[in-house]
Amino acid sequence: MSELRKDIVTREWVIIAPGRAERGQRSSALPTESDDFLCPFCPGREALEPELWAWRKPGSPANSPQWQVRAIPNKFPALEPIGNASRHDYHIYDCMAGVGAHEIVVETPHHNRNLVTEKPEQVAYVLEAYQARYQELRKDPRIEHVSIFKNHGWAAGATIRHEHSQIVATPIIPQLVWNNKQGQKQYHEYRDSCVYCEIINIELTLDERVIVKNDDFVGLSPFAAHYPFELWIVPRRHTASFANITTGERLALAQILHLLLTRLAEELDDPPYNYTLVSAPCKQDQDPLFHWHMEIIPRLSVIAGFELESNIFINTVTPEEARRRLQVPVESPAQHLRTTLPDDG
Ligand SMILES: [Zn+2]
Ligand SMILES: [Zn+2]
Repeated sequence: MSELRKDIVTREWVIIAPGRAERGQRSSALPTESDDFLCPFCPGREALEPELWAWRKPGSPANSPQWQVRAIPNKFPALEPIGNASRHDYHIYDCMAGVGAHEIVVETPHHNRNLVTEKPEQVAYVLEAYQARYQELRKDPRIEHVSIFKNHGWAAGATIRHEHSQIVATPIIPQLVWNNKQGQKQYHEYRDSCVYCEIINIELTLDERVIVKNDDFVGLSPFAAHYPFELWIVPRRHTASFANITTGERLALAQILHLLLTRLAEELDDPPYNYTLVSAPCKQDQDPLFHWHMEIIPRLSVIAGFELESNIFINTVTPEEARRRLQVPVESPAQHLRTTLPDDG
């Protein structure tokens, strides 16, 4: 069982999880062909981890091979849904048991395909898995926040080749989420409007950093991007959490996400990347002052001493240049996705 300990100065929580060290190594020891052969996520090995949720052929039994997307428990969880989530003191320090959840969303049944080589419909199924698991996890009163993210490539933190994303439900609100919430609240007090709604308005007007847009989302390179080719997807509808999106919005998000990941893969030769969904804490997902968004971070550079000390990032690619390189023609076939996707209810 892991433990959460709070940095007494910065108020950031750390998960101390020695059990996670047993999982696959990366960087110095890349998975081999034989590791691939033993892939735990491939069809036929469903019995290894019984599914929590799956998008599967109607009528097919749970944990049988006929699935498109599958959510399962992480074999080496950083947090587990066991025990009491109350805080306790250790002398001057704050800590709590590692209560929460850690899940995997296997994004495709195909070992060598990914969100780019799959169709946009597949991305929509993955987003549906995120939403379904979020709705389930938020029912647990011990859970304060649900982090949804993806690591693509070894340099971005993936340890298994078969494409997957992760969900970590925590009994605390992460400091970064608090900071984002505070920033949005302060902007609202200052300007009496939502900062992300303002960003959409000004970026669409200036048209210097917008890469793609549809009826529901805008994909752009942010004005003060920390990383080369950092991208945001901002929903046009003001709502506090990814979990609040409608079926139509999910399809529109799948369209834009697929397009941006495809452009990154084409321009930058399939770079390692992370993406995260930045939503309000789950007990505040109707917060009228919070506007959720998604961030895609290609991992083209390493975080070095200056960034670690100062949290000031040096970005060698202007967001305007990133837009110029990644922009797609207005009449892309993907523009028609929403009318061709099957209604999955
Ligand atoms: Zn596999
Ligand atoms: Zn807004």
